[in-house]
Amino acid sequence: MEDEEGPQCGKPDFVLLDQVTMEDFMENLKLRFEKGRIYTYIGEVLVSVNPYQQLPLYGPEAIARYQGRELYERPPHLYAVANAAYRAMKRRSRDTCIVISGESGAGKTEASKHIMQYIAAVTNPSQRAEVERVKDVLLKSTCVLEAFGNARTNRNHNSSRFGKYMDINFDFKGDPVGGHIHSYLLEKSRVLKQHVGERNFHAFYQVLRGCEDSELRELHLERNPALYNFTRQGAGLSGNIEFVETEEGHLSVAEDRLVGHVAELTATPQELVLRCLLARTVASGGREVIQKGHTAAEASYARDACAKAVYQRLFEWVVNRINSVMEARGRDPRRDGKDTVIGVLDIYGFEVFPVNSFEQFCINYCNEKLQQLFIQLILKQEQEEYEREGITWQTVEYFNNATIVDLVERPHRGILAVLDEACSTAGTITDRVFLQTLDTHHRHHPHYTSRQLCPTDKTMEFGRDFRIKHYAGDVTYSVQGFIDKNRDALFQDFKRLLYNSMDPTLRAMWPDGQQDITEVTKRPLTAGTLFKNSMVALVGNLASKEPFYVRCIKPNEDKVAARLDEGHCRHQVAYLGLLENVRVRRAGFASRQPYPRFLLRYKMTCEYTWPNHLLGSDRAAVSALLEQHGLQGDVAFGHSKLFIRSPRTLVTLEQSRARLI
Ligand code: ADP
Ligand code: MG
Repeated sequence: MEDEEGPQCGKPDFVLLDQVTMEDFMENLKLRFEKGRIYTYIGEVLVSVNPYQQLPLYGPEAIARYQGRELYERPPHLYAVANAAYRAMKRRSRDTCIVISGESGAGKTEASKHIMQYIAAVTNPSQRAEVERVKDVLLKSTCVLEAFGNARTNRNHNSSRFGKYMDINFDFKGDPVGGHIHSYLLEKSRVLKQHVGERNFHAFYQVLRGCEDSELRELHLERNPALYNFTRQGAGLSGNIEFVETEEGHLSVAEDRLVGHVAELTATPQELVLRCLLARTVASGGREVIQKGHTAAEASYARDACAKAVYQRLFEWVVNRINSVMEARGRDPRRDGKDTVIGVLDIYGFEVFPVNSFEQFCINYCNEKLQQLFIQLILKQEQEEYEREGITWQTVEYFNNATIVDLVERPHRGILAVLDEACSTAGTITDRVFLQTLDTHHRHHPHYTSRQLCPTDKTMEFGRDFRIKHYAGDVTYSVQGFIDKNRDALFQDFKRLLYNSMDPTLRAMWPDGQQDITEVTKRPLTAGTLFKNSMVALVGNLASKEPFYVRCIKPNEDKVAARLDEGHCRHQVAYLGLLENVRVRRAGFASRQPYPRFLLRYKMTCEYTWPNHLLGSDRAAVSALLEQHGLQGDVAFGHSKLFIRSPRTLVTLEQSRARLI
């Protein structure tokens, strides 16, 4: 690996482009990609393109080249960002975070693993046993989480179907002493159904493939995944509980044997399992309760809801188990000093499918929140830096997506509030009525529309679709299933059944099964509200930390190496707001560089500074260099950094440098 990049590799920082146009941006991205340079900066933001092939960029030797270096001393790399976050945390005792974004298959999870590997490699030089233990769990936890939370999709063979935020705690020496994972919105509908060509969570296949014959027998499983509805796409077959309804409306389970298996595996009484499958308990005023029989459709719905909930709680249990072994042990803040934290966020990117539902709505709302944070932090950081360096600063205008966030989460009238309202009105409100209410509230909102409001737009259907103009593009959502998915109801009978399991682990997953039916009057929070609350908390947490950004780009839809589809990338560059990012970065001052770094790059262009200067301070040397080029009018001298106003100046410097190498 070369340490220096010649001009044939393009610009290592998009801020150095002659002009900020999509064409120039794409040309540089493409040129670098062809040269195996998958990383490029925008200031301190790292843009990464998934190479879909093993490049010789990683491993101990590469790590050593980045360790302890400044961001710009080496070619752009994830290691440089990890190192910058680590050094900021260690030097200034600041909590930092690394926010990784991009669409499915863009390389977010791989990036987060490289970051973890870097941190693991550069810490604990004294080999303390407890630190080694924590590092080991940090690195290995990924594999367990991927087994339960990842699946093969059409866009990514190993797609994370949950959002993940991981905190790593460091002691005053800068060694990892603990960690904590938050998971967000597992795609539990995948347990039941997958699109053509996709699969269920890896864990299902791993069990069927990896267990001994005797273990499979104990679980009443056959090795062939094609035997199960959950693990083959398509309907019907044995191994799954089905219902039969007589003409008189009497409901029974098609195969009693299977109910026995469920009872055995969940350590619950068979009669109770059967009762939960066929009927529900309802409170009929006061302390009276009655059993109300299901229809076949209700029974199937309840069975599915139960299967999804069991899997979701299992996943949460796994996360909690990992957290309990990663917990910082035996630490006393008075003796050991306060921990500092690096947070790593690897969360689903903006999604647009042919049909978009509640899940996409939540995911895209999440991306609006993160974009909002990106805007605030970039502005905030810029302002703070200008103040710190004693430079006067003028505000920059750019699109602020706050109004879209507001459309979704505003109390009483926002989409989530209207949806909650629809869910709390027992049974009478349909998805269609929900849509009508949205239309009434938001008919004048610049980012909301529907067929009702725009009758000529045939890309939406009457009574079914609404469209949000997201910062990343327009998305049409079908309201079908919104109310159901938001309500996310699971009959109390199942919760109580599993809470009363003889298996202590299962029992621990269902604490809410303890409630009696007559006490269950207060509605649980809806899925949408829970998600909103977790997003508000996440953003608050990130905002309290010093952020570093990795923006991942997927080069093509076919997962093939060495092919960058321009149209495809152009779209991502646009919605990730990368051009805006470059512009904001250049608006006040195109570039800012610590004096030593500036000299390192340009000292060859001036006789007073090459190979070394004798001018007393780096600042004085930089001043002499700029005067020789006649560029001193376009810069401001900060306390520790040079601020360069126009990109032209940088281009001039780059050109005179290029003439010499
Ligand atoms: P995301 O988490 O953004 O959905 P992943 O990180 O799972 O995407 O990456 C998808 C696939 O792309 C990986 O399984 C791997 O095959 C490939 N990939 C991603 N990043 C790299 C990289 N830096 N080098 C080589 N292959 C990569
Ligand atoms: Mg992923």
